[in-house]
Amino acid sequence: MKIILIGIQGSGKSTQGVLLSKALGIPYLSTGHIFRDLAKEKTPLGREIKLIMNAGVLISDQKTLAIVSEYLSRPEYEKGYIIDGFPRTLTQVENFSNGVDKVFYIKISDKEALWRIAGREDVREDETLLAIRRRIDSFHKFTEPVVEHYREKGILVEVDGEQSIEVITKEILKALGKE
Ligand code: AMP
Repeated sequence: MKIILIGIQGSGKSTQGVLLSKALGIPYLSTGHIFRDLAKEKTPLGREIKLIMNAGVLISDQKTLAIVSEYLSRPEYEKGYIIDGFPRTLTQVENFSNGVDKVFYIKISDKEALWRIAGREDVREDETLLAIRRRIDSFHKFTEPVVEHYREKGILVEVDGEQSIEVITKEILKALGKE
């Protein structure tokens, strides 16, 4: 089963990704994690990714597609996966040939997202207020069309992300017929 989780930063995608991975027995991966790992590398690519991430803007579609395709071709993802953070633009959708079963849009308001991120104790290097604002703006500009694309395809499930963690997991599992 191939599942995509979409939502603005702070929507709880990675929390749900980890819980769903356990419940469904399929691996979870996130492009945010992948890029943060790459950004630690002292290579030209690592340095470039770090600069882009800290500015809160998107990595190019070309680089993202190459990196994500390489990851998803690994044997551990052969039977399925839960991916968060990808695809984030229509170009990424169009160039992503892997069949997708269901897409969950975990929806929270911008205000709630800012509130949640501001309340986090483990603030990351790429979480300056400016970077967070840019990420929220880029979600509306580039990722909302991705949500609409999957809605038109009939595989989108919208979930109210301002409910409790348990309720959200339950709703997702129910939509997958796993409850
Ligand atoms: P996230 O943790 O998902 O908010 O991702 C953190 C940062 O990684 C983003 O601000 C982007 O710079 C980069 N990133 C993650 N996923 C993508 C993607 N699908 N396309 C482009 N950039 C991405």
